[in-house]
Amino acid sequence: MKLLITSDLHYNLQQFDWLLRTADRYDYVIIAGDLLNIAGYLELELQITVIAEYLQNLSQRTKVVVCSGNHDGESKTEAGEYTATWLQDIRSDSLFVDWQAVQDKGNLISICPWWDGPESREEMTAMLERHSHMEKDKWIWIHHAPPDECRVSWTGKRYRGDKYLNQLIAKYKPTVVFSGHIHAAPFYQAGGWVDRMNESWVCNAGHQPGPMPTTIQFDLEKMSAIFDSSEGRETADLSDLNVLPFDPQQPT
Ligand SMILES: [Zn+2]
Repeated sequence: MKLLITSDLHYNLQQFDWLLRTADRYDYVIIAGDLLNIAGYLELELQITVIAEYLQNLSQRTKVVVCSGNHDGESKTEAGEYTATWLQDIRSDSLFVDWQAVQDKGNLISICPWWDGPESREEMTAMLERHSHMEKDKWIWIHHAPPDECRVSWTGKRYRGDKYLNQLIAKYKPTVVFSGHIHAAPFYQAGGWVDRMNESWVCNAGHQPGPMPTTIQFDLEKMSAIFDSSEGRETADLSDLNVLPFDPQQPT
């Protein structure tokens, strides 16, 4: 199964256009949150209309997996926590969103929402607990914020990941977690687009402006990954958890 992972497109329509052109080369296109831009000049409602159409077009070319990020919630739950209801409204046989489990060729993809408060965090934990009992060879999580205290959450000054996710990773041991959120983590010396955490790989596709999104091409059979950005290409063999695709001595 070949995956193309990106994140934090933040209403960059050129980058969505690029995805439309390349989508059919992959079994799945995965967008790990922050499709919209709450700091943008366009009203959120209008952004949602445009991006919903992009996602529907994309899902006619391949299967699409989308989780929400902190920019994507347009409504609030009864507990007052932001949630991306608009994603639920467009889900289909080839467009998978927050809260769904995607089973394909023995693999399980769990799509985690942006948890905006204790209630959604509890619900997400319960979802992962349910999914932990499902039969699977490899378990893939999509979760906008990366785990804390690892390369993929390095901002250049400090770690700004999700500490709670660290606990979940330690408990459930997913094969790989795809995140975004910390845009420049892949571009710092002490940062990276891939790291190992316990028995799991964690990846952050990062973000750059311009017409092409930063992407990770991931081959689930071979457990190999290719990261592309404007700074070039990096490859990683992730088939052995004990062989790190980066310098383990590098200070972090
Ligand atoms: Zn972002």
